[in-house]
Amino acid sequence: MSHRNARDWNRVLAGRPLLRAWSDEPMIAARRIPERLEGDTVESAEARGKHHLLRFESGRVLHSHLMMSGVWRLVPDGRPVRPGGLFLGLQVPGWTAALYRCPNVRLLEPGEPLPASVRRLGRDLLAASTDPAADTAAALRRCDPGRQVGDAVMDQRVVSGIGNVYKSESLFLAGVDPWRAVGSLSDDEAARVGAIAAELLERGVRDGGRISTHDRPGRPPGPRPSGEKWVYGRRGLPCRRCGTPILSRGQGDANRTTYWCPACQS
Ligand SMILES: [Zn+2]
Repeated sequence: MSHRNARDWNRVLAGRPLLRAWSDEPMIAARRIPERLEGDTVESAEARGKHHLLRFESGRVLHSHLMMSGVWRLVPDGRPVRPGGLFLGLQVPGWTAALYRCPNVRLLEPGEPLPASVRRLGRDLLAASTDPAADTAAALRRCDPGRQVGDAVMDQRVVSGIGNVYKSESLFLAGVDPWRAVGSLSDDEAARVGAIAAELLERGVRDGGRISTHDRPGRPPGPRPSGEKWVYGRRGLPCRRCGTPILSRGQGDANRTTYWCPACQS
């Protein structure tokens, strides 16, 4: 499920009673997941990377990890729920949430801790429950203050969602030098980085993961003239704002290339 679907998921499922839960998949049936969910009501849905969490009013949490081939589909009433590859069906008034090709699904009992692989992930910038500005500022305050900003924001344990393109483009639009130490950021700067990254991610989600210079905070979505970036992939080319040549260099343990304008980002 994409982030956009996770938001839809929350919208159509949250607050609704489960009318029916079923599985024909032996390994799901063996865990008695449908029976244990009987009579429960969905509280919220959340995506963190490939992890999806469906929280129920009982305190139970359905955790699925989609790996490569798994997918959650939302099927409105009146449309058939395709049986092929169906691992779990959850019907609420108006909709059925159908999980396909995903053996990695567990139902946690109330109070049972989330798997370490989920706990380690930072707040998902696109989750409905996340405040991108405040949560990013808080997450960056918890980082090693000497860590470089461009390294920290790509660490999915700090915040989840920012990849290499979004790192460079967001920090350019925020006017923050990727090589600065996290501890040198003001709360306002840290919040701005989070808010801008989240806005770009949302726009990217709407357009299949691509962003361009057309995307900037406050600009209404609409047709976009090109896939041009502000700085990403533009080493040596003039900055679109000030004309200074764009620089690039590998950053962090993974040595992911960061692009930046040394004049616009300070
Ligand atoms: Zn510039």
